Amino acid sequence: MNIKNANLKFAGSLSKRAKTTAIVLHHAAASKCSVQEVHSWHLSNGWKGIGYHFFVRKDGSVWQGRPIDRLGAHAKNGNSYSIGVCFEGDYTRETMPAAQLAAGQELVSYIKGKYPSISKILKHKDVTATSCPGDKFPFTQIAAGKPSGASAASATIKADNNCPVYAHPTASAARVATMQAGTSYSYKSVYIGGDKVKWYLVKVGNATGWVSEKALRGCPYTEPKITVYKGCPRGDNVKWAQWHLVRAGYDIGKSGIDGSFGPATDAAVERFQRAKKLQVDGRVGPATRKALKEAVK
Ligand SMILES: [Zn+2]
Repeated sequence: MNIKNANLKFAGSLSKRAKTTAIVLHHAAASKCSVQEVHSWHLSNGWKGIGYHFFVRKDGSVWQGRPIDRLGAHAKNGNSYSIGVCFEGDYTRETMPAAQLAAGQELVSYIKGKYPSISKILKHKDVTATSCPGDKFPFTQIAAGKPSGASAASATIKADNNCPVYAHPTASAARVATMQAGTSYSYKSVYIGGDKVKWYLVKVGNATGWVSEKALRGCPYTEPKITVYKGCPRGDNVKWAQWHLVRAGYDIGKSGIDGSFGPATDAAVERFQRAKKLQVDGRVGPATRKALKEAVK
Protein backbone atom coordinates (compact mmCIF):
# COMPACT_ATOMS: atom_id res chain seq x y z
CA MET A 1 0.00 0.00 0.00
CA ASN A 2 1.53 3.31 -1.09
CA ILE A 3 0.66 5.97 1.49
CA LYS A 4 1.88 9.48 0.77
CA ASN A 5 3.12 11.73 3.52
CA ALA A 6 2.50 15.48 3.28
CA ASN A 7 4.57 16.10 6.46
CA LEU A 8 1.69 17.84 8.22
CA LYS A 9 2.60 19.78 11.35
CA PHE A 10 0.22 19.29 14.27
CA ALA A 11 -0.47 21.96 16.87
CA GLY A 12 0.49 19.99 19.95
CA SER A 13 0.90 16.35 20.81
CA LEU A 14 -1.73 13.75 19.89
CA SER A 15 -2.72 11.19 22.49
CA LYS A 16 -2.76 7.49 21.82
CA ARG A 17 -6.05 5.71 21.06
CA ALA A 18 -6.88 3.09 23.68
CA LYS A 19 -8.63 0.61 21.38
CA THR A 20 -9.35 0.07 17.70
CA THR A 21 -12.49 -1.80 16.78
CA ALA A 22 -13.85 0.14 13.78
CA ILE A 23 -13.09 2.14 10.66
CA VAL A 24 -15.32 5.18 10.06
CA LEU A 25 -15.71 6.36 6.46
CA HIS A 26 -16.31 10.01 5.50
CA HIS A 27 -16.50 12.24 2.47
CA ALA A 28 -14.94 15.71 2.40
CA ALA A 29 -18.25 17.29 1.23
CA ALA A 30 -16.02 19.26 -1.14
CA SER A 31 -15.52 18.30 -4.75
CA LYS A 32 -11.81 19.14 -4.87
CA CYS A 33 -9.45 19.40 -1.92
CA SER A 34 -6.06 18.15 -0.79
CA VAL A 35 -4.94 16.68 2.53
CA GLN A 36 -3.10 19.95 3.24
CA GLU A 37 -6.31 21.93 2.74
CA VAL A 38 -8.32 19.68 5.04
CA HIS A 39 -5.51 19.96 7.61
CA SER A 40 -5.67 23.77 7.47
CA TRP A 41 -9.48 23.75 7.75
CA HIS A 42 -9.29 21.61 10.88
CA LEU A 43 -6.50 23.77 12.36
CA SER A 44 -8.74 26.79 11.88
CA ASN A 45 -11.47 24.94 13.85
CA GLY A 46 -9.03 25.16 16.74
CA TRP A 47 -8.17 21.45 16.47
CA LYS A 48 -4.64 20.06 16.54
CA GLY A 49 -4.82 19.45 12.80
CA ILE A 50 -6.55 17.11 10.36
CA GLY A 51 -9.02 14.91 12.25
CA TYR A 52 -8.83 11.92 9.88
CA HIS A 53 -6.12 9.27 9.79
CA PHE A 54 -6.21 8.90 6.01
CA PHE A 55 -7.33 10.98 3.05
CA VAL A 56 -8.13 9.33 -0.31
CA ARG A 57 -8.07 11.54 -3.40
CA LYS A 58 -10.03 11.12 -6.63
CA ASP A 59 -6.84 10.20 -8.49
CA GLY A 60 -6.43 7.16 -6.22
CA SER A 61 -3.60 8.61 -4.12
CA VAL A 62 -3.79 7.88 -0.40
CA TRP A 63 -2.44 10.40 2.12
CA GLN A 64 -1.46 10.08 5.76
CA GLY A 65 -3.42 12.32 8.15
CA ARG A 66 -3.04 11.74 11.90
CA PRO A 67 -0.67 8.90 12.76
CA ILE A 68 -2.70 5.68 12.67
CA ASP A 69 -2.34 4.90 16.41
CA ARG A 70 -3.42 8.37 17.62
CA LEU A 71 -6.86 9.53 18.72
CA GLY A 72 -8.73 11.04 15.77
CA ALA A 73 -11.18 13.96 15.62
CA HIS A 74 -13.61 12.88 12.94
CA ALA A 75 -16.72 11.32 14.45
CA LYS A 76 -18.40 12.46 17.67
CA ASN A 77 -19.06 9.34 19.80
CA GLY A 78 -16.72 7.30 17.59
CA ASN A 79 -13.23 8.71 17.99
CA SER A 80 -12.19 6.64 21.01
CA TYR A 81 -12.32 3.32 19.13
CA SER A 82 -11.96 4.08 15.43
CA ILE A 83 -9.72 5.03 12.53
CA GLY A 84 -11.15 7.79 10.32
CA VAL A 85 -10.82 7.71 6.53
CA CYS A 86 -12.00 10.63 4.41
CA PHE A 87 -12.61 10.65 0.65
CA GLU A 88 -12.19 13.78 -1.49
CA GLY A 89 -15.52 14.63 -3.13
CA ASP A 90 -19.13 15.35 -2.32
CA TYR A 91 -20.94 12.01 -2.39
CA THR A 92 -24.33 13.48 -1.75
CA ARG A 93 -24.27 14.20 -5.51
CA GLU A 94 -21.08 12.93 -7.21
CA THR A 95 -20.16 9.46 -8.53
CA MET A 96 -16.88 8.15 -7.15
CA PRO A 97 -14.11 7.69 -9.77
CA ALA A 98 -12.88 4.09 -10.15
CA ALA A 99 -9.31 4.93 -9.09
CA GLN A 100 -10.53 6.39 -5.80
CA LEU A 101 -12.88 3.49 -5.14
CA ALA A 102 -10.09 0.93 -5.75
CA ALA A 103 -7.72 2.87 -3.49
CA GLY A 104 -10.39 2.98 -0.76
CA GLN A 105 -10.88 -0.78 -0.99
CA GLU A 106 -7.15 -1.39 -0.77
CA LEU A 107 -6.84 0.97 2.20
CA VAL A 108 -9.66 -0.75 4.12
CA SER A 109 -7.92 -4.10 3.62
CA TYR A 110 -4.58 -2.59 4.64
CA ILE A 111 -5.99 -1.11 7.89
CA LYS A 112 -7.80 -4.35 8.76
CA GLY A 113 -4.53 -6.21 8.22
CA LYS A 114 -2.79 -3.92 10.72
CA TYR A 115 -5.64 -4.10 13.28
CA PRO A 116 -7.24 -7.57 13.43
CA SER A 117 -9.30 -6.13 16.35
CA ILE A 118 -11.43 -4.20 13.83
CA SER A 119 -14.88 -5.80 13.65
CA LYS A 120 -16.91 -3.02 12.00
CA ILE A 121 -16.72 -0.64 9.07
CA LEU A 122 -19.06 2.29 9.70
CA LYS A 123 -20.37 5.33 7.90
CA HIS A 124 -19.91 8.57 9.82
CA LYS A 125 -23.73 8.81 10.04
CA ASP A 126 -23.83 5.47 11.88
CA VAL A 127 -22.26 7.17 14.91
CA THR A 128 -23.19 10.86 14.57
CA ALA A 129 -26.24 12.75 13.25
CA THR A 130 -24.91 13.75 9.81
CA SER A 131 -25.46 12.99 6.12
CA CYS A 132 -21.73 12.05 5.76
CA PRO A 133 -20.52 10.27 3.62
CA GLY A 134 -23.56 10.92 1.36
CA ASP A 135 -26.09 8.62 -0.26
CA LYS A 136 -23.98 8.17 -3.40
CA PHE A 137 -20.93 6.99 -1.46
CA PRO A 138 -20.16 3.39 -2.57
CA PHE A 139 -20.07 2.15 1.01
CA THR A 140 -20.75 -1.55 0.42
CA GLN A 141 -17.97 -1.85 -2.16
CA ILE A 142 -15.39 0.02 -0.10
CA ALA A 143 -16.28 -1.75 3.16
CA ALA A 144 -15.77 -5.07 1.34
CA GLY A 145 -12.08 -4.21 0.90
CA LYS A 146 -9.76 -5.10 -1.94
CA PRO A 147 -11.45 -6.89 -4.84
CA SER A 148 -10.40 -10.51 -5.07
CA GLY A 149 -11.92 -12.76 -7.70
CA ALA A 150 -14.30 -12.13 -10.56
CA SER A 151 -17.45 -11.34 -8.64
CA ALA A 152 -15.92 -8.56 -6.57
CA ALA A 153 -14.18 -6.81 -9.46
CA SER A 154 -16.92 -7.13 -12.02
CA ALA A 155 -19.06 -5.10 -9.68
CA THR A 156 -16.72 -2.14 -10.06
CA ILE A 157 -15.23 -2.32 -13.56
CA LYS A 158 -16.98 -3.34 -16.73
CA ALA A 159 -15.38 -4.14 -20.06
CA ASP A 160 -16.59 -1.88 -22.84
CA ASN A 161 -16.62 -3.91 -26.03
CA ASN A 162 -17.36 -0.91 -28.23
CA CYS A 163 -14.07 0.64 -27.27
CA PRO A 164 -10.64 -0.57 -28.45
CA VAL A 165 -9.57 -0.53 -24.81
CA TYR A 166 -11.19 -1.50 -21.56
CA ALA A 167 -12.21 2.06 -20.83
CA HIS A 168 -12.45 3.50 -17.39
CA PRO A 169 -16.22 3.40 -16.86
CA THR A 170 -16.52 7.14 -16.30
CA ALA A 171 -13.86 8.37 -18.74
CA SER A 172 -14.60 10.15 -21.98
CA ALA A 173 -13.05 8.72 -25.15
CA ALA A 174 -10.64 11.68 -25.38
CA ARG A 175 -9.50 11.10 -21.83
CA VAL A 176 -8.97 7.38 -22.37
CA ALA A 177 -6.91 8.10 -25.48
CA THR A 178 -4.82 10.67 -23.61
CA MET A 179 -4.25 8.28 -20.73
CA GLN A 180 -3.39 5.55 -23.17
CA ALA A 181 -0.55 7.67 -24.51
CA GLY A 182 0.72 8.59 -21.06
CA THR A 183 3.37 7.07 -18.87
CA SER A 184 2.33 4.26 -16.61
CA TYR A 185 3.86 4.06 -13.17
CA SER A 186 1.98 1.38 -11.32
CA TYR A 187 -0.66 -1.25 -11.90
CA LYS A 188 -3.16 -3.48 -10.18
CA SER A 189 -4.52 -6.74 -11.45
CA VAL A 190 -8.28 -7.06 -11.46
CA TYR A 191 -10.73 -9.50 -12.95
CA ILE A 192 -13.07 -8.66 -15.81
CA GLY A 193 -15.55 -11.38 -16.65
CA GLY A 194 -13.24 -13.97 -15.10
CA ASP A 195 -10.14 -12.78 -17.01
CA LYS A 196 -7.29 -11.31 -15.08
CA VAL A 197 -6.49 -7.88 -16.54
CA LYS A 198 -3.75 -5.53 -15.45
CA TRP A 199 -4.94 -1.98 -14.97
CA TYR A 200 -2.24 0.66 -15.12
CA LEU A 201 -2.35 3.91 -13.23
CA VAL A 202 -1.21 6.37 -15.85
CA LYS A 203 0.02 9.91 -15.43
CA VAL A 204 -0.21 12.66 -18.03
CA GLY A 205 1.00 16.02 -16.73
CA ASN A 206 -0.79 16.39 -13.40
CA ALA A 207 -3.68 14.13 -14.34
CA THR A 208 -3.93 10.42 -13.56
CA GLY A 209 -6.30 7.72 -14.69
CA TRP A 210 -6.65 3.99 -15.12
CA VAL A 211 -6.28 2.14 -18.40
CA SER A 212 -6.10 -1.54 -19.15
CA GLU A 213 -3.04 -3.46 -20.28
CA LYS A 214 -4.66 -3.83 -23.68
CA ALA A 215 -4.85 -0.07 -23.99
CA LEU A 216 -1.12 0.42 -23.63
CA ARG A 217 -0.07 -1.73 -26.55
CA GLY A 218 0.19 1.01 -29.13
CA CYS A 219 -1.51 3.78 -31.05
CA PRO A 220 -5.12 2.82 -31.84
CA TYR A 221 -5.32 5.24 -34.78
CA THR A 222 -4.18 4.66 -38.36
CA GLU A 223 -1.32 6.79 -39.60
CA PRO A 224 -2.69 9.55 -41.86
CA LYS A 225 -1.81 9.61 -45.54
CA ILE A 226 -2.31 13.36 -45.70
CA THR A 227 -0.71 16.33 -43.98
CA VAL A 228 -2.67 17.57 -40.95
CA TYR A 229 -2.39 21.09 -39.55
CA LYS A 230 -4.27 23.72 -37.54
CA GLY A 231 -7.88 24.02 -38.58
CA CYS A 232 -7.98 20.85 -40.70
CA PRO A 233 -11.00 18.55 -40.32
CA ARG A 234 -11.40 16.91 -36.92
CA GLY A 235 -10.89 13.16 -36.82
CA ASP A 236 -8.58 10.18 -36.42
CA ASN A 237 -5.86 11.71 -38.62
CA VAL A 238 -5.48 14.44 -36.02
CA LYS A 239 -5.82 11.95 -33.15
CA TRP A 240 -2.89 9.96 -34.57
CA ALA A 241 -0.69 13.08 -34.43
CA GLN A 242 -1.97 14.01 -30.94
CA TRP A 243 -1.44 10.50 -29.59
CA HIS A 244 2.17 10.53 -30.76
CA LEU A 245 2.80 14.02 -29.35
CA VAL A 246 1.48 13.03 -25.92
CA ARG A 247 3.41 9.77 -25.90
CA ALA A 248 6.55 11.73 -26.87
CA GLY A 249 5.98 14.01 -23.86
CA TYR A 250 4.44 17.09 -25.48
CA ASP A 251 1.54 18.85 -23.77
CA ILE A 252 -1.39 19.27 -26.19
CA GLY A 253 -3.66 21.08 -23.73
CA LYS A 254 -6.49 20.20 -21.38
CA SER A 255 -8.88 18.61 -23.88
CA GLY A 256 -6.39 15.85 -24.66
CA ILE A 257 -6.60 13.62 -27.72
CA ASP A 258 -9.89 14.94 -29.06
CA GLY A 259 -9.21 14.97 -32.81
CA SER A 260 -9.41 18.75 -32.98
CA PHE A 261 -6.25 20.47 -34.24
CA GLY A 262 -6.39 23.66 -32.17
CA PRO A 263 -3.78 26.17 -30.95
CA ALA A 264 -2.37 23.90 -28.20
CA THR A 265 -1.79 21.02 -30.64
CA ASP A 266 -0.29 23.47 -33.12
CA ALA A 267 2.11 24.81 -30.48
CA ALA A 268 3.06 21.26 -29.48
CA VAL A 269 3.84 20.33 -33.10
CA GLU A 270 6.05 23.40 -33.44
CA ARG A 271 7.90 22.60 -30.19
CA PHE A 272 8.42 19.07 -31.41
CA GLN A 273 9.65 20.24 -34.83
CA ARG A 274 12.06 22.69 -33.21
CA ALA A 275 13.44 19.98 -30.93
CA LYS A 276 13.89 17.60 -33.85
CA LYS A 277 15.41 20.28 -36.09
CA LEU A 278 12.63 19.95 -38.63
CA GLN A 279 11.02 22.77 -40.55
CA VAL A 280 8.91 24.59 -37.93
CA ASP A 281 5.58 25.06 -39.72
CA GLY A 282 3.06 23.28 -37.45
CA ARG A 283 2.19 20.88 -40.27
CA VAL A 284 2.31 17.12 -39.63
CA GLY A 285 3.55 15.88 -42.99
CA PRO A 286 5.77 12.90 -43.93
CA ALA A 287 8.98 14.17 -42.22
CA THR A 288 7.20 15.08 -38.97
CA ARG A 289 5.25 11.79 -38.96
CA LYS A 290 8.49 9.86 -39.35
CA ALA A 291 10.08 11.77 -36.46
CA LEU A 292 6.96 11.25 -34.29
CA LYS A 293 7.06 7.50 -34.89
CA GLU A 294 10.74 7.39 -33.96
CA ALA A 295 10.12 9.47 -30.84
CA VAL A 296 7.66 6.96 -29.36
CA LYS A 297 9.54 3.76 -30.19
ZN1 LIG B 1 -17.87 12.63 8.17
